[in-house]
Formats: sequence, structure tokens, C-alpha cells
Amino acid sequence: RSAPPATMVIFGASGDLTRRKLIPAVLNLARHKRLTQQFAVVGVARSQLDDDQFAAAAFGDADTRSMPSLHGGIRYVSGGYDDPATYARLAELLVDLDTSRGVAGNRLFYLATPPQAFPKIINGLAGAGLNRPTGDSFARVVIEKPYGHHETSARALDACVHRAFDESQVFRIDHYLGKNTVQNVMALRFANAIFQPIWNRSWVDHVQITVAETLGVGSRGSFYEHAGAMRDIVQNHVLQVLALALMEPPASFSAEAIRNEKVKLLQAIRLPGDRDIDDLAVRGQYTRGGTRFELMPGYREEPGVDPLSRTETYAAMRLDVDNWRWAGVPFYVRTGKRLPSRVTEVVLQFQRPPHLPISAAQVREMDPDALILRIQPDEGITLRFGAKVPGHSFRVRSASMEFSYGDTFREESPEAYERLLLDALIGDPTLFIRSDEVQQCWRIVDPIIDRWSQDDRPIPTYEAASWGPMDADRLIGRSGRVWRNGN
Ligand code: NAP
Repeated sequence: RSAPPATMVIFGASGDLTRRKLIPAVLNLARHKRLTQQFAVVGVARSQLDDDQFAAAAFGDADTRSMPSLHGGIRYVSGGYDDPATYARLAELLVDLDTSRGVAGNRLFYLATPPQAFPKIINGLAGAGLNRPTGDSFARVVIEKPYGHHETSARALDACVHRAFDESQVFRIDHYLGKNTVQNVMALRFANAIFQPIWNRSWVDHVQITVAETLGVGSRGSFYEHAGAMRDIVQNHVLQVLALALMEPPASFSAEAIRNEKVKLLQAIRLPGDRDIDDLAVRGQYTRGGTRFELMPGYREEPGVDPLSRTETYAAMRLDVDNWRWAGVPFYVRTGKRLPSRVTEVVLQFQRPPHLPISAAQVREMDPDALILRIQPDEGITLRFGAKVPGHSFRVRSASMEFSYGDTFREESPEAYERLLLDALIGDPTLFIRSDEVQQCWRIVDPIIDRWSQDDRPIPTYEAASWGPMDADRLIGRSGRVWRNGN
């Protein structure tokens, strides 16, 4: 697969995402010969830079002279995001590149600014007619997260976007979907027959999805204060992984077939009633703590954070899916900063055998069977089951069958942004989020965020480098279950 001729226009080109993710993705596509010579990158931002300064700031030491798809094709437009003159200059440059680089009028606009600027950029592009491709060419827009601050603002952003672009031109990005192991959830489920029969309420006792980070908020304090764990991770990454893991088998792997099934699953998630929220959702904020080797500051001590902040750095909730496959199966999801290990995983814990022909003491060392899909780090799949302990007595202990992605496959796997950028250039929206998916995800988290914002009790805390607040253990313990913390 290679990209067609195109100009990639990055708004917010002076920023962190451009330098750390987007340009490395472009460079990798160029190195892997996924780009043709008919390619150009145009950076747009308010910072006063010329073409060379932008190239130096964003591309660093990369030897773009030796890359035909980039040599001579890196340009910069400086200007305000709501200034029509910026778009007039951009339009002129794009026409020039159409002929000088032969990019055939194809444009990919990448919105890599903070979200306040998204509507301004969409309106600016439409004002200059850059939203409408001519002839056979394309004009697409990739929009970064966060997409809205709640369902209402997501709908308002959609209304703005749809005034300028058809949904088929819109690529809402969640880089989690670019990860190989997230896509492997679909391979595991739908390219094999052996898992499907047990992937339901008859065999699965419950499911746990964990996105745990060891890092604190770092330099993102002032941004994070307005987001919190629910908006930053659950609304997008967690619910995307959950939808892929629980959806019905799609009839094909076409973008619409897959996204239809994800939406149906999200629609089937039951919303908690007002009174249930405290039983079904838990938040927490890390306080000073750490390990023997490292003392870690509390969230309120981090730069850019209000010393009285009530922003959650941990969120956990129980979800129920009202459909035939999953009725009665609880889904526990959690995410947090400053947890003891960095891990993203989906755990399907299976039911106990209906009858044990041996005594409870003989299986004391055994955890319930589980299938663990490890998304990062250490990507792979683990099947946990009971095996007889060697010796004269009959005792059963948990054992694991391991599949390691890295050890099994020698092929290099593209970075998430590289994969998604190529998909957007090709025009494949499968791994991008459709408008109705975003709205469903906000529908699920909004009532909980609202409830928390009105709750003036002290926010529960947990020490840095611990597995979250005690309330999270109570949340899952209410149904007699426990979190699997690395076992
Ligand atoms: P950033 O560095 O704060 O902003 C990118 C550029 O946008 C800045 O260099 C600045 O350029 C411009 N800008 C800053 N504040 C602005 C404002 N209030 N209004 C208009 N323009 C403003 O952001 P980033 O970290 O690159 O992230 C960009 C987008 O990607 C955000 O929506 C973020 O949520 C998303 N994202 C980032 C990451 C990441 O790793 N950084 C990961 C996932 C998603 P000028 O002043 O030169 O115009």
C-alpha cells in the first residue's frame, strides 16, 4: 500500500504532536517508500517561521534531501487560525504545489492544534473553498482528540464540521486504533473459530479493561486540569477497545460494517441512573507516594495544577451491555496515572467449572481461567488456566500459555501514527471514529462526569505507585470479584 500524490497540511505545526509524532510518521512513510515523489508537507501556525526554520524545528536532523517525497516539498505558512488571509496564502501555495510537485489537488488537512482552534480552522478552510475538492481529487480533514468536551459540544463541533465537510471526508483520530495489538483483537476474534463460541455470557464471568500509566501528569498539568481521566482516556481509548472486544462479528471488514457494529455495541451500554452512579463509578486523585527508589509528588503539587484541584487522575466504572451476548456480564474498566505498572490489557475472566470433582483445597492456588489480551507494553496474549502441580498429591495451580507478538513475528510493525496517516492518505476510515461513535462515547461518560462535578465531598485519593483508591476495590468487590493486578 502506498499513498497517492497529496499535500499534507498540518495546522498547529509548531507544536509538540507535530514534532514528536506526525513528522516522524511522515519520515517513516518516506523511508518505507509509502509516499510518492508527488508529496508535500505544509505547516501552518501562528509562530513566525520560514520554510527552513519549520523544516529544522519539525524534521530535526533527518536527511530529507535524500528523500524524493520530501526534498523541496516542506513549506510553511504563518498566520492566525481565524484570519482569512492565512487561508488565502495557503490556497495560493497549494495551487502552486499542485503544479510544482504534481500533487493533483489532493489535500489532507491535519488539525493538530488545541481543540479551541478546530472550528476556526474548519471555517477558514471552508471560507477559502479548500473543503471542496475539484475533479477527482480529495480534500480530507483529520481531527485530533479531544473531540468535544461533552456530548453537546461534540455535536456542536460536528455541526460546524458538517457544514464544511461530508462525513466521508472526516477522519477523527484515536491513535489507540493504530496499534497493531488493538487490531489484533479483531484478528483473534474473527479470523479464528475457536474463540467465538466462548465469547459470550455462557462462558465469560466478567471482563476487565485496564489502561494503567506509571507516569504522573508531567508537563501537561494545565491541560489535564480541564480533562481528567474520564475525558482523557475512558471516553476515547477505553471505549474504543471495549467496542472492538465486545461487538458482534461484522459481515465484512469494510469500514462501515465494522463501525456499525461498534456503534450498536456502544448503544447497548446501559446508562446508570442518577442514584446508581456512586455504586458504579469511582474516581481518585494521586497523592505523594512512590517506591523505595523514587519519591513521587502528589497531583496537586504538579506544575500547572490547582493546589485544591478536584480533577480525577483515576477513573473506574462498571458497565453493563444490554444485548443477547452480554446480558448479565459485568464489564469493569479503569484507568489511572501513577499506578504501579504501565499496562493496557483486556481480560476475559471465565466462569468456574459447574462442578468440581476435587476439593476446594486442591484448587486453592488457582485463579479463575482468563484470556488476557495485552495491548501494551509486552504485546501479546496470555491464556491462564489450571494445571496439576508435579508430585504425589493432586493440586492445581494457575499456569500460562503465552503468545508474544514480538517473538512470533519478525516483521517490523508501523507506529500507530504512521499506520493511521497512511490510512487517511489512502482514504480508509476503518480505524477512525465516526460521528455517531463519538456521540455514543460521550453519552456513556457524561452522566458520571456531571455527577462528579456536582459532588462536593472530598475527592478520594490514592498514593502514587498504588493501584488506585480503595473505592475501586469496593466497586468490583460488590459483585464478589477482584481486580487482576498483573496476575
Ligand atoms: P500544542 O503543542 O499545545 O499546540 C500545537 C500548536 O497549536 C502550538 O504550537 C501553537 O502554535 C498552537 N496553539 C497553542 N495553543 C493554541 C490556542 N489556544 N489556539 C490556537 N492555537 C494554539 O499541542 P500538541 O501537544 O501538539 O497537541 C495538538 C493536538 O493533538 C491537541 O488537540 C492534543 O489534544 C492532541 N494530541 C496531542 C498528543 C501529544 O502527544 N502531544 C497526543 C494525542 C493527542 P502557534 O502558537 O504557532 O499557532
